Amino acid sequence: MKVIVGVTGGIAAYKAVELVRLLQTAGLDPHVVMTAAAQQFVQPLTFSAISGHKVITSLWQPDESDDPTEADAESSIAHINEAQTTAALIVVPATADIIAKFAHGFADDFLTTLYLATKAPVILAPAMNVYMQQHAATQANLAILRVRGVTIVDSGSGYLACGMTGSGRLADLPEIVEATIAAIARHTDVTPRNDLAHETVLITAGGTREPIDPVRFIGNRSSGRMGYALAEAALVRGARVILITAPTALTLPTGAEAIHVTTAAEMHYAVLNRLPQSTTVIMAAAVSDYRLTEVPSQKLKREGPLTLSLVPTPDILSDVALRRAPGTLVIGFAAETEDLLPNARAKLLRKGIDAIVANNISAPHLGFESGDNAGIFLTHDTSTDIPATTKQAMAHRILDQIVPMRVRLQSATLHE
Ligand code: C5P
Repeated sequence: MKVIVGVTGGIAAYKAVELVRLLQTAGLDPHVVMTAAAQQFVQPLTFSAISGHKVITSLWQPDESDDPTEADAESSIAHINEAQTTAALIVVPATADIIAKFAHGFADDFLTTLYLATKAPVILAPAMNVYMQQHAATQANLAILRVRGVTIVDSGSGYLACGMTGSGRLADLPEIVEATIAAIARHTDVTPRNDLAHETVLITAGGTREPIDPVRFIGNRSSGRMGYALAEAALVRGARVILITAPTALTLPTGAEAIHVTTAAEMHYAVLNRLPQSTTVIMAAAVSDYRLTEVPSQKLKREGPLTLSLVPTPDILSDVALRRAPGTLVIGFAAETEDLLPNARAKLLRKGIDAIVANNISAPHLGFESGDNAGIFLTHDTSTDIPATTKQAMAHRILDQIVPMRVRLQSATLHE
């Protein structure tokens, strides 16, 4: 499970190095973001070596791209991607400055922008001089953040780097790790568990693209977030995860075996190819229902009205349901704009699958391109509401339904 550690410019910045290690020991995957001041205390290289990930040091960070405009465009939206893919934001040490910026909504660097853009739980571990900490301004800012649900891991008393003794020391690192795990558990309603150990979960994600000429395609609004959240959640719960992904702007979950595809036909091939290894298949991808009968080899010219001739793509889900081994569970998604339940029920039967997650995609702020979702988990004899929540939490709610189905299926297969 990915978490972001924001390191700010205080003497205690060096302690964040050890925190990254402790978070890893707790089974989390920390990525580091440093403010400009933090880099005066610790080199980004130290964090990248320990975390195994590139450290984000600026909102305008050039990447490896040769094209400077492309690099800027990518990094300028990176905070949104980071904000939506992290399970928590932990700021260690949190200086008086970052506390003030968070409290008042400043967004002038990567960390402050990320804070505004994330819905993940935020954990701050303040560390500063005793007078700075006790100042009415800092106390008022901390109060604002507490009211907004930020977890403040209070600093201990003791010897401070400025030579004084008093409150303002960074809290003990294990306490920060504990507060992080508790905040994630509260947010996702998930206490770390291993209930998918020995399972191989195949997940499809993203929206497929069907070319109409060498440069254009027919696509859809799927961001891939629901599928990626399912992959992350299954990994956290001990599963081996095969993620078959159509193009998305997301970072791959660490530990997933990813297969990149573009068209429905490529996804079809990849899914069938990996089906024999899988114990559960979850098709969260938005698969194009049609493709061009024949894709022209040259770019189409604008010459009056254009009619495209389309043929249906294979229904991957039905095919998987048909070809699976007896012990394999198959779950689909039904994104509907009307008559949610009847349509989803009909799809469950028509496709011959075990369960379907019905989504009402016409609800504002939910579903496509959103960080949140809601749905109904339908089996042939049960219906479970999943109220609106983050896609990460929803992923766990879906797995909560799948785990007992797996157990039942396994014991049924054993007794056959
Ligand atoms: O029929 P509909 O496209 O609404 O069904 C949605 C479900 O079917 C999703 O789980 C989607 O991943 C899957 N699907 C598929 N192959 C297609 C179209 C949809 O597997 N060609």
